[in-house]
Amino acid sequence: MICEALRYPPAMADTGILELDELERIVADGGCRFETRTLCHVACGALHLPLYAISLGNPDPAVPAIGIFGGVHGLERIGAQVVIAYLQSIISRLRWDTTLNRQLEQVRLVFVPIVNPGGMLRRTRANPNGVDLMRNAPLDARESAPFLVGGHRLGPWLPWYRGPFAGPLEAETTAVCQLVDEELLSHCFSMVIDCHSGFGISDRIWFPFAHTALPIPHLAEMHALMEILDQTHSHHRYVFEPQSRQYLAHGDLWDFLYLRSLERADRAFLPLTLEMGSWLWVKKNPRQLFSRHGIFNPLIEHRRQRVLRRHLAWLDFMTRAASGHALWRPAGAAREQHRQRAMQLWYGGHAQ
Ligand SMILES: [Zn+2]
Repeated sequence: MICEALRYPPAMADTGILELDELERIVADGGCRFETRTLCHVACGALHLPLYAISLGNPDPAVPAIGIFGGVHGLERIGAQVVIAYLQSIISRLRWDTTLNRQLEQVRLVFVPIVNPGGMLRRTRANPNGVDLMRNAPLDARESAPFLVGGHRLGPWLPWYRGPFAGPLEAETTAVCQLVDEELLSHCFSMVIDCHSGFGISDRIWFPFAHTALPIPHLAEMHALMEILDQTHSHHRYVFEPQSRQYLAHGDLWDFLYLRSLERADRAFLPLTLEMGSWLWVKKNPRQLFSRHGIFNPLIEHRRQRVLRRHLAWLDFMTRAASGHALWRPAGAAREQHRQRAMQLWYGGHAQ
């Protein structure tokens, strides 16, 4: 592995973002077992905040890859914290964990813990231009999306703003697209986990599509992945489903990148979103309702730690699933069976 950490920019003394400070500390302490890149700088007032990507493991395109993203929405700090905690765990185990080191010979890991540092600094969902990065991709919903929440072009003063019509993509969106092209779609098989919070009571694992209620071509793979999760962690509490079962949206970045991946028939790219159900944290601690920060994040420390523990186990499962994809991805008649069961489960039983 290349000793790119040595080229790492000097840590900013205090960015004003606890998560970014922690990330810089982890990377600075981490030695040279991984590569750190600054994908771009995001202007936020007088500051130019770095958007970091950290890669480790085997870069050979023949091995699978997994990308783990957080902090797309600046208010949802717990997503960035989950990704940083997993990165910290991996990096500290590199020194002594022989199993992990063997695993990294067979998989590529890419972390982008804070996609929207400007939003995190300003404590807004959107980036500093007022654009919702998860509504910014050049892709319209094919059926009706909910007013405002589904994305709109009315203006940056309202949440869920997509950016101007036919305008350039935001710097953060462009950086993610380029990273996915270079680090994930370059591999024969890749997965993504993008960590969010704020929707409902349950923890949900969403897969595309978000722009249409139609099923994706890799429906069988998603069903097979859910099946090994059920078998491996039989007491897990995740609801596994296509995002379209909850709501449709314009400009979904993962739909856009997934559709782009389909142009390469020799590639499989499975993007998933973790939506941590924050309403339960509010229910257990109603005072959180009075804090904008509290609607999206667990404010009580023991609850935050429980959230981190639970999702770390799942991220580890997903990394292993990426690594061993050849052993669980269905083929032939089994693939068709998975597809039919998925149609029954998620699409009203129409095994079309
Ligand atoms: Zn979010």
